[in-house]
Amino acid sequence: MTNKEEPALTDKERNMLWKKLSKIKMQAPRGENDLKSNVELGRDLDLYIVNDVIGQGLPLLTPKGATIKREIERFTTDEELRRGYEYTSTPIMAKADLFKISGHWQHYKKDMFVLDVGGEDYALRPMTCPFQFALFKRKPRTHKDLPKKYAEISTLFRNEQSGELRGLTRLRQFTLADAHIICTPEQLEEEFGKVMDLIKHIMEVFNIEVWYQFSKWDPKNKNDKYINNPEAWEASQKSMKKILDKAKIKYVEAEGEAAFYGPKLDLQYKDVYGKEDTLITIQIDFALPEKFNLKYLDKDGKEKSPMIIHRSSTGATERVIAYLLEKTQGNLPTWLNPIQTKVMNMNDDVKDYAIKINQKLQEAGIRTQLDSSNNSMGKKARRAITEKVSYLVTVGEKEKAKKQVAIRARDSEKITTMDLDKFISKIKKEIETKTK
Ligand SMILES: [Zn+2]
Repeated sequence: MTNKEEPALTDKERNMLWKKLSKIKMQAPRGENDLKSNVELGRDLDLYIVNDVIGQGLPLLTPKGATIKREIERFTTDEELRRGYEYTSTPIMAKADLFKISGHWQHYKKDMFVLDVGGEDYALRPMTCPFQFALFKRKPRTHKDLPKKYAEISTLFRNEQSGELRGLTRLRQFTLADAHIICTPEQLEEEFGKVMDLIKHIMEVFNIEVWYQFSKWDPKNKNDKYINNPEAWEASQKSMKKILDKAKIKYVEAEGEAAFYGPKLDLQYKDVYGKEDTLITIQIDFALPEKFNLKYLDKDGKEKSPMIIHRSSTGATERVIAYLLEKTQGNLPTWLNPIQTKVMNMNDDVKDYAIKINQKLQEAGIRTQLDSSNNSMGKKARRAITEKVSYLVTVGEKEKAKKQVAIRARDSEKITTMDLDKFISKIKKEIETKTK
């Protein structure tokens, strides 16, 4: 393609776009009990922006917002690696052919972004599965290779309607902690249990309240929205119900909410407006192994189709951030807080000492900022509190003389003076245990 037919912007047009590009478009009403939404918190705490030149549903995370995302993804990755997952890295787009195999092209095309690449149909991926299946298929597999657990922090695209887009909750591009467990039918129950165990652990660490929804197909809609295989639907729903009941999971049932290729267990939550949404999904898949001709050689020497569990663990990172912001109203726990400490000097005579303290905190791996402005202590402290910094670290003549720091937690009036090393080990422990 050449740019010849495309006229250059006029000065006036460019000026208009510049103006639009620096305009942040983030307004949202208050939620129930006057709670702030992730849009308002995101704007006021400078975590992300949305604007019309880039497009709706495509937020830009600031360094502070990106810090929260990185910490969530780092935690998820480490936890999954410890539990036997292997991480992959796969493309964000593929030829239509791949999605024709999976059935996305037939059942899901209206929700995908389709591209013309050199006259061929491509699409931005709405899911990771087909790519990880291609990796599974790269060598012959036996029962000894299973379960295979492929995970990826995956960038995905969904062509949501403009009216559906909301803050960090519903996006056109998002990041999913995705994984596929390819196992034998005999391993399915145990593997499902392990997935539940992982998710329960993650929900506990993040302190997220969810309830379970067993999402089934709608037999009346079988020819369009779902793969038309009533026997397989009934069988897989039955086996999923058995697993859920055995694990003593309490759930509500929702007909017509399944994926087109199988039933799901959805973990549901409510936002500040009381609106229900899905945070995490686990699916048992009877259809895609066959569509992709996934095989393994079993103990008895016969070639068989594996089962697949599609699952997320933290869900879409952006949606988790939205949830956590709304739940804590911006008072994130220290391990996720973009600014963990703010060092403030009482006056210019102790500025050097404040710089040194800030540097030592940074070297210890603490996310810290220095406020060495000439503002009054009251003003500095108020600003740090508005920014929801976890700890205010103040230094004056007294602290400098004793080689100490005065510490005040965000949620307390109490000021404690202590050695810097003691404070560092205290805050590091808090970060490591993710307790506060
Ligand atoms: Zn999948």
